[in-house]
Amino acid sequence: MQSFLKKAYHSGMLSFAVLRGGPIQGAYRLRQLHFHWGSSDDYGSEHIVDGVKYAAELHMVHWNPKHGNFAPALKQRDGVAVVGVFLQVGKTLKREMKRILEEIDSIKTKGKESPFLHFDPSILFPKSRDYWTYEGSFTTPPCEECVTWILLREPIVVSPDQMAKLRSLSMNTENEPFRPLVDNWRPLQPLKGRVVRASFK
Ligand SMILES: [Zn+2]
Repeated sequence: MQSFLKKAYHSGMLSFAVLRGGPIQGAYRLRQLHFHWGSSDDYGSEHIVDGVKYAAELHMVHWNPKHGNFAPALKQRDGVAVVGVFLQVGKTLKREMKRILEEIDSIKTKGKESPFLHFDPSILFPKSRDYWTYEGSFTTPPCEECVTWILLREPIVVSPDQMAKLRSLSMNTENEPFRPLVDNWRPLQPLKGRVVRASFK
């Protein structure tokens, strides 16, 4: 498992990013990525490691093409793989986060979108590819039990200003009053006998 994610994404002739290796079989296709964050820098991640909460958590959602499409994949135990990356507030910033955060200015309110082309998601990975893995679910309703979670151990670093930028998004549309989009994280769930494995000692 150790070499996993060293070359997780292959673009080549494909027009989509593909994740392979580690706990998953075959190549899963990237569907979307999104963030969860809090109303302050002290919390906001959905996973908590030995009591440590991070300011935010990035999720890269991939689906298994053997199930034909994203919707049917949601009904299968091996349907989806989500790579999770913690965001920690600090000084040595992850340069690659800049491009994503710059894009936020053009999508301030609900329903807005902005094209985001030629993006290799692996640039957002931390240096270390150590990870934890377990079989779990989506964290948003209806929380389908189809996810192989791959949670990277090392956080990437963002600034307080960058976190503030995430909190400057509105849950409402342009014509409605500003309502900050914050605390879009699901509280910790009971382990229920799930086994969490580590790729490292
Ligand atoms: Zn998520």
